[in-house]
Amino acid sequence: MQSFQPPRRILMGPGPSDVSPRVLAALARPTIGHLDPEFQALMEEIKAALQRLFNAPDHACVPLPAPGTAGMEAAMMNLLEPDDRAVIAVNGAFGGRMADMADRAGARVVTVDHDWGRPVDPARVEAALAEAPTKLLAFVHAETSTGVRSDAGPLCALARRYGALSVVDCVTSLGGIAVDVAGWDADVVYSGTQKCLSAPPGLSPIALSKRAQAAITGRKTKVRNWLLDFNLLMSYWGGEGGRTYHHTAPINALYGLHESLVALFEEGQQAAIMRHARVHAAFAAGLEAAGLSLLVDAAYRLPQLNTVVVPDGVDEAAVRAHVLKHWDLEIGAGLGPLKGKVWRVGLMGASATPWHVRLCLTALCEALAAQGHAVDAAKALAAADRELAA
Ligand SMILES: *Cc1c(COP(=O)(O)O)cnc(C)c1O
Repeated sequence: MQSFQPPRRILMGPGPSDVSPRVLAALARPTIGHLDPEFQALMEEIKAALQRLFNAPDHACVPLPAPGTAGMEAAMMNLLEPDDRAVIAVNGAFGGRMADMADRAGARVVTVDHDWGRPVDPARVEAALAEAPTKLLAFVHAETSTGVRSDAGPLCALARRYGALSVVDCVTSLGGIAVDVAGWDADVVYSGTQKCLSAPPGLSPIALSKRAQAAITGRKTKVRNWLLDFNLLMSYWGGEGGRTYHHTAPINALYGLHESLVALFEEGQQAAIMRHARVHAAFAAGLEAAGLSLLVDAAYRLPQLNTVVVPDGVDEAAVRAHVLKHWDLEIGAGLGPLKGKVWRVGLMGASATPWHVRLCLTALCEALAAQGHAVDAAKALAAADRELAA
């Protein structure tokens, strides 16, 4: 065997995003014991920082030791017991994954299905909640498979009105658009480190309300998975004075998350959100000038995940292969019904910079030209630059 040397890549897909040098440096610091007093102090600081990041001062916030999908699984497995009714809004791949998990937890799952590319419709969700007593309402705030933002506040309010607990997937939204757990009065909100937080994949920050915690401690049956059982987990993460061993925290990964949070607060959460909006506006202007279009209506478009429509006659996969080969640039393919029809371009975290926008526009235009689809790259860059200068 030989040491693995990854190629240089610029990550502008649906995640992971570029990891900043300061986070990479933090990951390489010496491993210490997870029960070391210094490490326990770090755990406390991360918990407080996550409360601030989510705006969830009254929620229990911890990073789960696995990627974003673990947050989803923890929410479903901890809140749902066999025969509970769960209403899941599905408007893309991740809503579908939630429904599958709720089913595996033994719940009676009712999906509210939407066309891909559309936001969750509160009226249709309300109709499903009104049919029967419901334990849980789940939806995706930022659907990474389509680039759509759904309005979380009104959906959480519906859950409250019908006595259901709300579960909100904020894997792609956290750090890129406003996430306001207290303002939404949401019950369980989870995210991941590899999208707009720009740390490597492998951790899932999660926030649980007091209502959610009471539902979990009051379960009639044991949570069916062990690692993510919140009752056990909090004996490890919760305990001021006297932590008991549950699992060994991914120590260096937590150094990385901590550093990414330090960087985010240095920049300012609002400033980071503005940066995502600004580079998205530049990218959209550049695409438009090049004669390309975005799938999603501007009213509910995500700045951090751009679904670019593949023009007629263009080979979608060949364009991705071209930009990877010639520009070391990774962009994403469409999923499900959007396969072959869109590219998914991430402007997330450390990948949300004017440099990334200019590079991606240049590379895309070159790849299209190589297929005989003439686009004016100079015009695209000029339009993006005008937007950035505004
Ligand atoms: C990426 C993503 C996930 C899953 O996160 P992983 O880190 O890939 O496990 C879940 N939900 C949404 C909306 C995502 O974008």
